Amino acid sequence: GATIGILGGGQLGRMLSVAASRLGLKTHIFEPEANAPAGDVAHKVTTADYEDAVALRAFGQSVDVITYEFENIPTSALDLLESLAPIHPGRAALATSQDRLTEKTFLRDLGLQTAPFADVTDMDSLNAAIAEIGTPAILKTRRMGYDGKGQARIMAPDDAAQAPADMQGAPAILEGFVDFSHEVSVIGARGADGAVACYDPGENVHEAGILRTTTVPARMTAAQRTDAVLIAARILNALDYVGVMGVELFVTPGGLIVNEFAPRVHNSGHWTQNGCTICQFEQHIRAVAGWPLGDGSRHSDVVMENLIGEDMDRLPDLAKTDAAIHLYGKAEAKPGRKMGHVNRVVKA
Ligand code: ATP
Ligand code: MG
Ligand code: MG
Repeated sequence: GATIGILGGGQLGRMLSVAASRLGLKTHIFEPEANAPAGDVAHKVTTADYEDAVALRAFGQSVDVITYEFENIPTSALDLLESLAPIHPGRAALATSQDRLTEKTFLRDLGLQTAPFADVTDMDSLNAAIAEIGTPAILKTRRMGYDGKGQARIMAPDDAAQAPADMQGAPAILEGFVDFSHEVSVIGARGADGAVACYDPGENVHEAGILRTTTVPARMTAAQRTDAVLIAARILNALDYVGVMGVELFVTPGGLIVNEFAPRVHNSGHWTQNGCTICQFEQHIRAVAGWPLGDGSRHSDVVMENLIGEDMDRLPDLAKTDAAIHLYGKAEAKPGRKMGHVNRVVKA
């Protein structure tokens, strides 16, 4: 069988490895941290950082295809790796999603609705952006933000003075605050043959910037559901994408507004492990390995709950319920750290 190279050995890399293994494929993980979650289940692990060209080259030469569990892979590493094995999803998806300004501009150019946004490089451009967009607004670093990190809320123009300190001077964008009723996401997949399959949208609840629960079905009309899938398909096709993608949407009376997309399997797609015949992890492996996409239709209602930090104290009680338990094998339950998740299958 072929060997899938995975950049990143966190829980997503771990669950991708398990799925690959079920398909008779081997995985080789590249991960700077020792004892990362995927290490337990991968066939091979290289512990090295992204500046280590020798290790990167050996990794790239040992695999048939390269995929990843996070989008902030250094460009220099991608340049080296792309000469050794195909990278799926491709460079366009990575470059677009690594930078919120590029991402939002791409989405707007596709004709999709986004929050109003403006480029912020200094105090003058911040004040100009506030004058244009108004408040409340959110200042976000263009790069590297996740779980709501690297963001500052600007409730009134006076808050602008404090904001650059919060952002430590990093290039940023200002986004107008979207008055949404709830948040949903679509997990979409596109095969090497261009076939597109999307999972049912899930409804997401965040707490302190971190995903808390995903519930399927989401509260949406049939028309909104169709819209959500069409939005995801448009993004997938525009990027000539191969693999699974998570697309985050705000539900508003004026339609669906695209917040961001992640060019990888997504936390809000974990429900598919127990709600579908083919979960997002298998779907992603199928796509990057050049297999046909599988049947992603939903057979059950599911509530996925993340186990974060001290939520792990509830494990003995959770183990007595019918919830499907997925743990990542992380040693220490630090605050804010995703330790695992449970899927409650509500209706068979
Ligand atoms: P993730 O962990 O999903 O990658 P992130 O750090 O990239 O998160 P966003 O998804 O952009 O950040 O924002 C985090 C949350 O903040 C959103 O899920 C939403 O609840 C809220 N939020 C972000 N942008 C806006 C906006 N323009 N208007 C209103 N709420 C917003
Ligand atoms: Mg994000
Ligand atoms: Mg997000």
